[in-house]
Amino acid sequence: MRLLKRAFVIMVLGASMLVAKPTIYILATGGTIAGSGDSALSGSYTSGTVTVDKLIAAVPEINEIATIKGEQIAQIGSQAMNDEVWLKLADRVNALLNDGGVDGIVITHGTDTMEESAYFLNLVTKSKKPVVLVGAMRSGTSMSADGPLNIYNAVNVAMDKASAGKGVLVVMNDKIHAAREVTKTATTAVDTFKSPNTGNIGTVNYGIVNYYLQPTRKHTVSSDFSVKGLKELPRVDVIFGHTNQTADFVETAIEKGAKGIVLAGVGNGNPYPSVEEALIKAAAQGIVVVRTSRTGSGSTSVGAEVDDAKYGFVTSDNLNAAKARVLLQLALTKTNEPSKIQKFYKEY
Ligand code: GLU
Repeated sequence: MRLLKRAFVIMVLGASMLVAKPTIYILATGGTIAGSGDSALSGSYTSGTVTVDKLIAAVPEINEIATIKGEQIAQIGSQAMNDEVWLKLADRVNALLNDGGVDGIVITHGTDTMEESAYFLNLVTKSKKPVVLVGAMRSGTSMSADGPLNIYNAVNVAMDKASAGKGVLVVMNDKIHAAREVTKTATTAVDTFKSPNTGNIGTVNYGIVNYYLQPTRKHTVSSDFSVKGLKELPRVDVIFGHTNQTADFVETAIEKGAKGIVLAGVGNGNPYPSVEEALIKAAAQGIVVVRTSRTGSGSTSVGAEVDDAKYGFVTSDNLNAAKARVLLQLALTKTNEPSKIQKFYKEY
């Protein structure tokens, strides 16, 4: 009798394990993926008009593979992304992932600044569970809209055990990218997302996930950064380098109280001479100056043509200017000592 009972319990448990679907939260922030326009053949549309419930309803297949829950965090084009939404998003991601019942999170996001939000979350999420950002290049009303399959793929990536511990991920156009590496490289092309320094770390084709690379820099549970108790982030400005440049923007950044300045310099992160002079003044006043490159790939070398040691400048390794800005904002919550911040750029 007792054996029979035990067999019955094992059968019931086994059956429930077979049918148990992972719970995936979809946190919506807006963007083209939630955009709509008047015509299937027009590039003109409004971002963030479709709510999370409608986004989920447009991809009914995801309900077959996971228990899907949706929350609206914001409803903006990602050109309007800001520190307030980041902090709200990070708090919610951490609260959900520390709840035993949540297996992974998909964040729908505009593509313009997706790389910055992904890298920010990569540095402040306190969990190994998958967090996947996804977007679309064509709105839901466009011919060949890419959003629904991107969402289906993102949910599959968020459910996949192999996605755990890889930091925050970006899924677009059948590719899985690491948050640190990914960048938007073209204005309207569906294959705009690339990881120029390393390549994408995996692929996802109609929900079939394959990984080929492992991110090696510190992220999520090994990151020293946290949003706990943070109400705002320090101001960091990016200055874009070019020929025949004035020092005006650097001077304005100093006047307006920037705590850090990122130079997207020419070539190997080089400043125009008048800009260099202004940056030297900024660094002397305790503003952290980070040199990076406007070229789109490669590392900015320490001390190649600029005497970083003499002026107390920092270089961004191979982070692009937008991501160097994110890391500097978080670094400044810990220290404004350039040598310590230089170490962060080697670790993250
Ligand atoms: N500017 C919009 C955004 O980033 C459109 C780009 C997109 O989502 O593809 O939200």
